[in-house]
Amino acid sequence: MKIRTGTIFDIKRFAVHDGPGIRTTIFFKGCPLNCWWCHNPESQNPDPETILHPNSGETELIGKSVNISELMDEIRKDIIFYDESGGGVTVSGGEPLMQPEFLVALLNQCTNENINTTIDTTGFSSLKTMKSMLGKLDLFLYDLKFIDDEKHQAYTGVSNKSILTNLKYLDSEKESVIIRIPIIPGVTDTKTNIKSLGTFISSSLQNINKVNILPYNRLGEGKYPRLNRPYRFANQLATPSDKELNRIKNELETYGLGVQIGG
Ligand code: SF4
Repeated sequence: MKIRTGTIFDIKRFAVHDGPGIRTTIFFKGCPLNCWWCHNPESQNPDPETILHPNSGETELIGKSVNISELMDEIRKDIIFYDESGGGVTVSGGEPLMQPEFLVALLNQCTNENINTTIDTTGFSSLKTMKSMLGKLDLFLYDLKFIDDEKHQAYTGVSNKSILTNLKYLDSEKESVIIRIPIIPGVTDTKTNIKSLGTFISSSLQNINKVNILPYNRLGEGKYPRLNRPYRFANQLATPSDKELNRIKNELETYGLGVQIGG
């Protein structure tokens, strides 16, 4: 039997940074990664959990179970804006691929109703799961952090093997993909890492060459104590300057990539 119920922790209407046009973004709960810089730490646990309210000290529950029909009711509210702006639905997280059957059911329903679909993904899944996405998404926003697997494991808790394999697979299938690189000062922005990312994208992929670079921000830091978890970059990092972002953009462009700051 198909799973038509999933766990999400938020729905954002009128989103403009999660793919083309005006979008409704569905935030799936659960992420296989545990990035040091994560600004959505409440997304990582696949189950609903409590978080302290910042002012009252009371607890609130993050995450809830939803079914496809409830979600579609929410999504349909903004169809007129999708049509006018070239927008649609974005599935984000957390990692939507952690709930593959529910995700496929949602994407099928959107496709049936001619609603454009985008996924914001870590790319961390089995190849079988990634194959099941073929033809169901208009765009993949695909995170890429490190090519060096030791560094990937140190800062995200998992190997990048399946991420790189799945990306090559999407490339071979000519899927529409934009790579998103989080720019974390002193971590992902080093000359060595940018060089290895530029080299991998330009030499291992035949079709994908669009890259967005996403500057680090500290917006999520305040959520960590509320979840009773440590923030491993506390007071260590600042948002990268425009000059620094332009340096990285220029460097990646030398590999023939189309690079945009933000996305
Ligand atoms: S992949 Fe995204 S959601 Fe998952 S831990 Fe990393 S930053 Fe957080």
